Amino acid sequence: MQLKCKRLPQEDGHCGWYETLPVAPRSTPLNGTVRADWVVLGAGLAGLAAARRIAELQPNASIALVDARRVGFGAAGRNSGFMVDLPHDLSSHDYTGDQRRDHQQIRLNRGAIDYMRTIVQRHNIACDWREQGKFHGAVEAHGLRALEAFSKGLHALGEPHQELDALAMKAATGSDFYRAGLHAPGCVLVQPAALTRGLGQTLPENVQLFEDSPVHNIEVGKPHRLTTDAGQLEAPRLVLTNNAYAAQFGQFGLKGRILPVYTYGSLSRRLSDNEQKELGGNESWGLIPADPMGTTVRRIGDGRICIRNSFTYNPNLRTSARRLARVRAVHQRAFERRFPMLPEVDMEYTWGGALCVTRNGGTPFGELAPGVFSAVCQNGLGLTRGTISGKLIAEYALGFESELLNIMLEQPQPVANPPEPILGMGVRSTLAWKERQAGKEL
Ligand SMILES: Cc1cc2nc3c(=O)[nH]c(=O)nc-3n(C[C@H](O)[C@H](O)[C@H](O)COP(=O)(O)OP(=O)(O)OC[C@H]3O[C@@H](n4cnc5c(N)ncnc54)[C@H](O)[C@@H]3O)c2cc1C
Repeated sequence: MQLKCKRLPQEDGHCGWYETLPVAPRSTPLNGTVRADWVVLGAGLAGLAAARRIAELQPNASIALVDARRVGFGAAGRNSGFMVDLPHDLSSHDYTGDQRRDHQQIRLNRGAIDYMRTIVQRHNIACDWREQGKFHGAVEAHGLRALEAFSKGLHALGEPHQELDALAMKAATGSDFYRAGLHAPGCVLVQPAALTRGLGQTLPENVQLFEDSPVHNIEVGKPHRLTTDAGQLEAPRLVLTNNAYAAQFGQFGLKGRILPVYTYGSLSRRLSDNEQKELGGNESWGLIPADPMGTTVRRIGDGRICIRNSFTYNPNLRTSARRLARVRAVHQRAFERRFPMLPEVDMEYTWGGALCVTRNGGTPFGELAPGVFSAVCQNGLGLTRGTISGKLIAEYALGFESELLNIMLEQPQPVANPPEPILGMGVRSTLAWKERQAGKEL
């Protein structure tokens, strides 16, 4: 079976996390034919975890990990850096909710954080790893209701958290924008591009990393053959970790089940010492909005502020300069509403990135065809879900058993999407409606 890739990852604006890192050493693109025991396609969080885990469990196996771009350049390095332990959307709103499902999600997320912590500590990866939890902030009436429901859900689950009033939110963030908030301690904050690059630079010796090597073609067979600009990879086992791009190969039933949705980030210029004093609050914090369509904000230790909001449906997996300019203006306004004491601070970088979501939150985890395994689609929470699905797909493919793997295998498979153009019309109008509802939470 020959599968041609329709669209490859491209530049979607300048990602501040990546651009503020030191210049990376030269990459090693694939050249000629390389035969390996395993090929892992996509060096984001899932691919890096899958390749590492296979190498740990099979120290004598050879693993080729291939990416179209540099490690850290894709969504894995473009996100807001929240390694969340708690699902955003709790089923346990009240004491009758589905607590088992929530507990399972939390086990998976914490499994990812534990695995990542071990790697970061063992290799001393400088990624501004901060175990400081996250704030949830609300400003509109519906945001306050969502916050209350979230807090009830956490009580029902026995998860520690602290409810905060407007004054406490101001003390922590320096902003008097939020009418109420909540602090949940289990989230870890990272510099995502630094983390991802660090993971790529500390892979076990039996993993060969090929960057700047877009895969144009996959021949599924014995062995599988992947073709890049200047070479070919051959291996009996292939692990797909190319997230939203997996559907671009048009097979394995992924195209009709996963949805490529873009979201956008901006990083401000560095605040001066006086501006930091004027702002007040903690020197580093992360806040997610009570309304999922609202604005995520992070203050970073180096004195910059990161803003994330806006979702768009991008089936062609690219965004435009016009869209980025529009989003940048939205980010600037969100910044000004929260930080009126910093009128001179502009966004220095603005970028977009592809999330992969499914309509029912399901995930196409498992063996899609003989010797072809999938750990794609993290439903927007790739730092934890990508890491754990990559680790667990390796264990699954090698026949290992574990409690976390059983939980992963219990997760629902994605449901089918309606055909285009109904799908596009539905997703676009839902996003636009929800964004309007978000009001000042944006
Ligand atoms: C602005 C923004 C903010 C976000 N905030 C958060 C957050 O705070 N916390 C969180 O958990 N998640 C967040 N996310 C989501 C998170 O970034 C993704 O869920 C995560 O990156 C998915 O990881 P992954 O490894 O599955 O896929 P990706 O990181 O997308 O990696 C897939 C890789 O496959 C490669 N690839 C694709 N096609 C090919 C090909 N044909 N040939 C070779 N290589 C290919 C790509 O170059 C890419 O490197 C955010 C995303 C964005 C865009």
